[in-house]
Amino acid sequence: MLKTLKSYFGYTSFRPLQEQIITTILQKKDTLVLMPTGGGKSMCYQLPALMMEGTTVVVSPLISLMKDQVESLQANGIIARALNSTNDETTNAQLYFECIQGRVKLLYISPERLLFESNHLLRDIKISLFAIDEAHCISHWGHDFRPEYTQLKVIRQYFPQVPVVALTATADKITREDIIQQLNMRNPEIFISSFDRPNLSLEVKRGYPQKEKIKTIANFLRRHRKESGIIYCMSRNGTEKVASLLEEEGFHAGVYHAGLSNEQREMTQDDFINDRIQIICATIAFGMGIDKSNVRWVIHYNLPKSIENFYQEIGRAGRDGLPSETLLFYSFSDIVMLSRFAAESNQQGINLEKLNRMQQYAESDICRRRILLNYFGETMDHDCGNCDVCKNPPKRFDGTIIVQKALSAIARTNQQVGTRTLIDILKGYATYEVTENGYDKLKTYGVGRDVPGKDWQDYLLQMLNLGYFEIAYNESNHLKITEAGKKVLFGKERAQLIVIQREDARGKKGAKGHKDSAPAPLFVSTVFEEEDAELFESLRQLRKKLADQLAIPAYIVLSDKTLHLLALRKPETIEEFGEISGIGEFKKEKYGKEFLTVISEHLYKG
Ligand code: ADP
Ligand code: ZN
Repeated sequence: MLKTLKSYFGYTSFRPLQEQIITTILQKKDTLVLMPTGGGKSMCYQLPALMMEGTTVVVSPLISLMKDQVESLQANGIIARALNSTNDETTNAQLYFECIQGRVKLLYISPERLLFESNHLLRDIKISLFAIDEAHCISHWGHDFRPEYTQLKVIRQYFPQVPVVALTATADKITREDIIQQLNMRNPEIFISSFDRPNLSLEVKRGYPQKEKIKTIANFLRRHRKESGIIYCMSRNGTEKVASLLEEEGFHAGVYHAGLSNEQREMTQDDFINDRIQIICATIAFGMGIDKSNVRWVIHYNLPKSIENFYQEIGRAGRDGLPSETLLFYSFSDIVMLSRFAAESNQQGINLEKLNRMQQYAESDICRRRILLNYFGETMDHDCGNCDVCKNPPKRFDGTIIVQKALSAIARTNQQVGTRTLIDILKGYATYEVTENGYDKLKTYGVGRDVPGKDWQDYLLQMLNLGYFEIAYNESNHLKITEAGKKVLFGKERAQLIVIQREDARGKKGAKGHKDSAPAPLFVSTVFEEEDAELFESLRQLRKKLADQLAIPAYIVLSDKTLHLLALRKPETIEEFGEISGIGEFKKEKYGKEFLTVISEHLYKG
């Protein structure tokens, strides 16, 4: 198994559970695999496919996913083909021929097509294994039900002797049982791996107004030049807006949402995969069809509606296992919007509860990864050291007076204001709404002048989460003081607030006006500290040139990790080149010479 792994894929060890899973499949047992995105699910059936006689048939829901997988297998010299509606007749005739000759090791197929071919092509070839990718699509309970998937029942009827492996990143119990039952799996071995993704850093920023968010993102992007990432926004408008604001800051960002035509969306996705666009502003519609392994960061411009959504979206970063950054913004208006959506939805109770849990995550003062894993039913017995809470534990102070000022202002308006007007009152801004209602005559008018407006945003969010007031969604989002709030207002209890930290928005050292002075390291990780950045850049350019020539994405030519290892170890012979992780026999022969030339030119120039 290890020999096959190295010679085809260039890896020298298995990821957790892969070895046990592959062994089980090789024993022809039915197998269910639950692994997080990036855990290495594909390897679990690709390696058996190479080691067993015949063809492994892989069912996959999306053409873009099939394309990605087939291209990466072919890039490793493995004969893989895809059978779907985009093929023309000549392609199909050729494909049938190769299949019948028994040359194809992996045949990717859409569920509709599988149904049809069960009585045609599939009858005429020797099938070693059925692999059902994204298997949760079979279940109504999953988040991504596809009716076509329910037809996969035919597999057991037509091919009772062929083992089945089902794979998914959706872990919940009902979905799991549904998969087993619907596919009619026989005593399946079930493998559940940890859902932890330690290479993803976690960070949350609370209560930033738009301008501040954009500034913070621009600084973030300067640290990630030449690296790909996604900015998720709540609305279509949001994506367009963020993209144009970033444009003003000198960043080119693509836009992706359900309001665009299919062609436009495909083009954007393609530009992203092929590194022609580095930044995508997207609604949640973006991502399902993306297997790009070198997404280096994910930003949430707005709060997602549940932890499931959040985890799936950040999961698109760092599939290659390299350190990747994630950043979540959440603001008062997000909560107002999302609460309204949830309240108006069919499953009000569940959706409000999910939002609640998401909010608790964002507001947490204990290790965020512990909260995430706990949510998915895993317990973690240590802090992660890779989230903002671990790195920079929140400090509290006695904020009683701040809370009293805000609550007293709310009380004096007879609880008839929302956050914006409240802040105007506290700051002493004579806006139309303030003067029109005589709020400028209140005793509390201007009492919060000494606190910056954006800090008021933050404190009010904290107060909401501490339960000092509620938002009356049915009364123009006016703020209503709760019993807990009254206790603080009347001095019966004191309030602990978190000290606001904003170093990022002002640049690393709090220096203002140094827009472009921030250094732009190619890679944020410390893992490759010793690497030669100049060499890495030359290697990256060669990879891009080869990718364009071969019309495949750069990360399929060589992964980011492999490229970093080359820049670090600087192999000088073809054997040394072949020892690098991610380089199998085929890539060694195909790319060795050109990469070695770049390395030796770099080593011996001048
Ligand atoms: P998933 O389908 O679970 O999201 P993938 O199968 O796409 O994950 O694998 C994620 C990445 O991990 C791929 O780039 C793959 O080549 C890599 N990978 C898989 N198995 C190994 C391994 N044993 N060693 C190193 N890298 C691996
Ligand atoms: Zn942590």
